[in-house]
Amino acid sequence: MEFGWNEEQRLWRQAVRDFAQSEIAPRVREIDQEERIPPEIIKGMARMGLLAPLCPEEYGGAGMDWTMAAIAAEELGRADISLAVPVLYLVEAAWGFVFEQYGPPELKAEVLPRVTAGEAFLGIATTEPEGGSDILGACRTKAVKDADGWRLNGEKVYISGVRESLEMGGIHLLLARTDPDPEAGHRAFTFFGLPLKGTPGLTPTFFEDMGRMGISTGGFALEDVRLPAEHQVGELNRGFYYAMEGFSAARVLIGATCVGAAEAVLDMGIDHIKERKAFGRPLAAYEGISFPLADHYANLESTRLLVYKGAWTLDQKYGPGTRTHHDIALIAALAKLRAPRVGFGIMNEVADWFGAMAYTKEAPVEMGIRAIRSYSIGAEGTSNIMRLIITRELLGTEFLPYRY
Ligand SMILES: Cc1cc2nc3c(=O)[nH]c(=O)nc-3n(C[C@H](O)[C@H](O)[C@H](O)COP(=O)(O)OP(=O)(O)OC[C@H]3O[C@@H](n4cnc5c(N)ncnc54)[C@H](O)[C@@H]3O)c2cc1C
Repeated sequence: MEFGWNEEQRLWRQAVRDFAQSEIAPRVREIDQEERIPPEIIKGMARMGLLAPLCPEEYGGAGMDWTMAAIAAEELGRADISLAVPVLYLVEAAWGFVFEQYGPPELKAEVLPRVTAGEAFLGIATTEPEGGSDILGACRTKAVKDADGWRLNGEKVYISGVRESLEMGGIHLLLARTDPDPEAGHRAFTFFGLPLKGTPGLTPTFFEDMGRMGISTGGFALEDVRLPAEHQVGELNRGFYYAMEGFSAARVLIGATCVGAAEAVLDMGIDHIKERKAFGRPLAAYEGISFPLADHYANLESTRLLVYKGAWTLDQKYGPGTRTHHDIALIAALAKLRAPRVGFGIMNEVADWFGAMAYTKEAPVEMGIRAIRSYSIGAEGTSNIMRLIITRELLGTEFLPYRY
């Protein structure tokens, strides 16, 4: 067993940290207030190989493994605690990987080089107004095939990157029901590469989020939207399984980014409690302050181990070894359950240390609190859905009251 980093990993972490601390960290408040990621940052990410980084070089990608991708996610979270840049990064990393694995060659050749160059967006659209957790029950968007290709009707909501996709172009991987038979269960859904920009029949909507303001959350209604047959991604009726692969990968990267952001905030808190005095002594001298610091640090370090075990497990599956889908789903759920909650706990504690300043925009902590909450509330699966996956793996499906 090896807990250290090899030379390549160390150099990569340093390179991403240098880039992120100099180009992104000084602009986080601006990103939060202007509600967009400046194009120069996206271009810089492209130059660093940070856009859809698992894609092979033929598409302009860096051909990275998951451990390297998680290192980058952690460093981007450390630099941008508002989590806008990390969200852009990890959505494209995880779903770019799925698209590269299963997408049709012509569509990949059209879309991926533009995504890796920072000229197009690639996102995921599974959630619907009836709910995001229960995909089987709630996915009403239908795709029907005819002589001209696919016809889509339905609605997706709470989708990251709708504005970016409308402005830049690109695709969202859209999950739609392709088998109307209720008995088809998980084998009823197919993935499609849906361009949002310039698609007739598509009506976008936008939500006003509480955090991660630099990347949009929106939705879209689909009314008789036509897609060529070649926009089907992967096999017919296998979309649910591809979605689960993408979610597991995204959950590990989310874990890494939450760890990075939480550590950045903890470091700010440590600097503050060493400096700030009350009753004649630095705050750090009071055990009411320093003991919670110890507990939070223990939580952070154990979460980091889970996250990198998750990345390692993904690398075994997609690298030379073999790990089962169940191993990956379990470790990814553990990382996604822990990291946002541990991170939120740290940020909440550090807010106390900063006193009133934490409640103002003079201190950055509030951006982190608003942002990290998204990951236990919902994005890429709620905390309870992580618990559901963990209990499914521990107890077996026969103890679930429904299909999952
Ligand atoms: C900022 C943000 C960005 C997002 N980006 C995307 C995106 O890019 N693409 C996309 O497709 N979706 C996206 N989502 C949606 C996200 O996937 C959903 O929010 C999530 O799946 C939960 O769905 P829901 O919000 O409909 O909640 P629901 O599914 O209605 O769940 C509501 C509550 O009930 C709980 N619950 C549900 N079932 C059970 C159960 N069996 N046992 C116990 N508790 C249960 C849930 O844990 C939750 O607390 C995003 C969400 C957010 C907040």
